[in-house]
Amino acid sequence: MPDPGIQQSADAVVRVVNACICGSDLWPYRSMPASDEGERIGHEFLGVIEDVGADVEGFKAGDLVIAPFVWSDGTCDFCREGLQTSCRHGGLWARDGIDGGQGEAVRVPQARGTLVKLPAGADSALLPSLLTLSDVFPTGYHCARTAG
Ligand SMILES: [Zn+2]
Repeated sequence: MPDPGIQQSADAVVRVVNACICGSDLWPYRSMPASDEGERIGHEFLGVIEDVGADVEGFKAGDLVIAPFVWSDGTCDFCREGLQTSCRHGGLWARDGIDGGQGEAVRVPQARGTLVKLPAGADSALLPSLLTLSDVFPTGYHCARTAG
């Protein structure tokens, strides 16, 4: 894949430091046709911001951030209700030309609504634990809460 860069003023570029493989990353291998171009994959990652677009307030190069398993604007009616997976201006990683987390770097659309700064350095021993916040920990928490 080509190196990512800022394409929209709400973008950030994040250099991936840690990434997980989710079970849903493995599903396509059962039916994925051979491809000369390859496919983007991955939606659980944390990393260091390399660049931000003009409209990405509150973030700067060098910030350690985590991305949740969808990207979202954080401002629409669904996001304000905590339903970022239904964001009117968001989407899925590794779909429709958006980078996946299983890469060296990721263009993050809607970076201000998507990324969360981490209170740790890029060399922290906590990074593997913090990485679970991208998907597996909140998914398990949601299951436990829903099940009572
Ligand atoms: Zn939204």
